[in-house]
Amino acid sequence: MVTQLNDIDSHEFNPWRRVSSLIEEAGKLLGLDSGMIQRIITPERILEVAVPVRLDTGNVEMFTGWRIQHDTSRGPGKGGIRFHQSVNKDEIAALSADMSIKCAVVNIPYGGAKGGVRVDPTRLSRGELERLTRRYAFSIAPMIGPDRDIPAPDINTDAQVMSWIMDTVSMMHGHNTPGAVTGKPLSIGGTLGHAGATSLGVTICTTAILQRLGRPSNEQRVIIQGYGKVGAPLVKLMSDRGMKVVGVADVSGAIYVPEGINPQLLAKHFEAAHTVLGYPGAEHVDPEKFWTLPSDIAIPAALGGVITDRVAETMTASVMIEAANGPTTGDGAAVLASRGIPVVPDVLANAGGVVASYFEWAQDLQGFMWEPELFQQRLEKTMQDAFIHVWNRSQQLSVNLRDTAIAVGVERIAEATEVRGLFP
Ligand code: GLU
Repeated sequence: MVTQLNDIDSHEFNPWRRVSSLIEEAGKLLGLDSGMIQRIITPERILEVAVPVRLDTGNVEMFTGWRIQHDTSRGPGKGGIRFHQSVNKDEIAALSADMSIKCAVVNIPYGGAKGGVRVDPTRLSRGELERLTRRYAFSIAPMIGPDRDIPAPDINTDAQVMSWIMDTVSMMHGHNTPGAVTGKPLSIGGTLGHAGATSLGVTICTTAILQRLGRPSNEQRVIIQGYGKVGAPLVKLMSDRGMKVVGVADVSGAIYVPEGINPQLLAKHFEAAHTVLGYPGAEHVDPEKFWTLPSDIAIPAALGGVITDRVAETMTASVMIEAANGPTTGDGAAVLASRGIPVVPDVLANAGGVVASYFEWAQDLQGFMWEPELFQQRLEKTMQDAFIHVWNRSQQLSVNLRDTAIAVGVERIAEATEVRGLFP
């Protein structure tokens, strides 16, 4: 029985339904009783807030925001905040559950949470964005804090947005609370290495799976959907490891460069053009056909729900690494499995970001910043250990990497839930 959050059309892809059934399946695989499975699935706390914002015109516009703590049995809630016009409660609930699993898979002492505001931030001026962020932060403030729930950047939010949240919370408390938010600028308790950590983790997982499949890195052609915080650094990191990035897509369209994209050249081009389109010598391709480009590794690094059954049927790559959160629908996953295409799932592949957040938070709580080398070393080790654990377990269980990763996460959450008992 899947916990229902909204009355939703049963034919539409719903990320909450997908993640709750994945947890349910994992619970059954582990032999957990149904009470425990329902306890793990059901979000602990859901807050919906109205966010009125005075626009530069003087008019007031209303937005809706959410912060959801899915599970806090292993530690405070942790997870990003996204600003996007498609945000809704079910999506944030699904993403909060993904965070619970993700933090457990990489074995860091956090539960899972997520937040978001339904807004297209590209329509807002900087002043409007700051007012929206501060009002939203004020409204969710009773839920957040260094020992309760620690937000971080996600889609369309960055270090500047985190600074405004940190400042709002600090003003309300009357003292500095750097540990209340991660992904901050260095000047207020951020850490070198946070930016790009998700992409580094994706790269570590890619190299690790190629090694196990006996495929040399320098023969791999990679396509990446998304050229933002995660996608852009990936072009360079993959190229540095000898892979050839032949296709990149962003919101405006997609490019194909069979001889391989030069990461520096693309970064320079993007800075000027604000799109990958027009990269010198690139063929523009129909975004609908992006996943059919000749390639070996496919990396969705943008929004969720894009790898549908139809996409999975025609995908050319023979390995997929999920840099985005929830990029694959249930039907899409079934097709990839039937085609024997291994997938490193989001809860493992993109966990580098939250591991970096953990290190930033630990440094803030200690009031002692680490050397950048130590940060890097610990990040790489945490990701490598998590990959090896999931890979070995998947071989033992004869279950694919996604179901195994979810089972590893659910098992750790169940253990914490069990040992803590039931209050009162
Ligand atoms: N938004 C990132 C994610 O989805 C990072 C979350 C965090 O650092 O709390 O994993």
